[in-house]
Amino acid sequence: MQLVHNEIPREFLNVLPEGIKFIALHGRNFLVVESVFCPQGHSLRVDTVKIHGEPAVHIGVRIGAQEGGIFIDSFWGSHNKLYDFIPGESEAVVEAFCPVCGASLMVNDVCKAEGCGGEAHIQMLLPGGKNRVLVCGRLGCPGHRLALQAAPGSLVEEVSAINYFGTHIDDFFGGI
Ligand SMILES: [Zn+2]
Ligand SMILES: [Zn+2]
Repeated sequence: MQLVHNEIPREFLNVLPEGIKFIALHGRNFLVVESVFCPQGHSLRVDTVKIHGEPAVHIGVRIGAQEGGIFIDSFWGSHNKLYDFIPGESEAVVEAFCPVCGASLMVNDVCKAEGCGGEAHIQMLLPGGKNRVLVCGRLGCPGHRLALQAAPGSLVEEVSAINYFGTHIDDFFGGI
């Protein structure tokens, strides 16, 4: 399977927000979500679970009557997730919360991914609380975007559109 690599616009490096880091690996450039928080300031990154060598983002979720945790790859655009439960429906909309204090992470935003249009989004705050990462709450949807205060909208849109579909990023990492 071929890796779908999305170039990170060079100009973005000048406005890289705190909490997102830029890394070069095997000659490729990636953005990694380095610190994200719940509305009460709890870090959502955990050192105990790593995906692609980076601490994963841990959120609690409810899907109907089910409740559990999801560990999300911190590589921007990757859709690798680990579940500590088995979600009953593959396209269910989750209700996410902070695994530490239980505060809701849900906000309304319109998902721009083709064929989705979902409004339930998981919000994670970058340091300072003004810049945000928004992820579509529908399982399996690749919709995600950055909401940044001090970056041109077109640039943020370009970065938000970065996606590594399916298992491509795993092929690149050689399955680690
Ligand atoms: Zn919290
Ligand atoms: Zn969506």
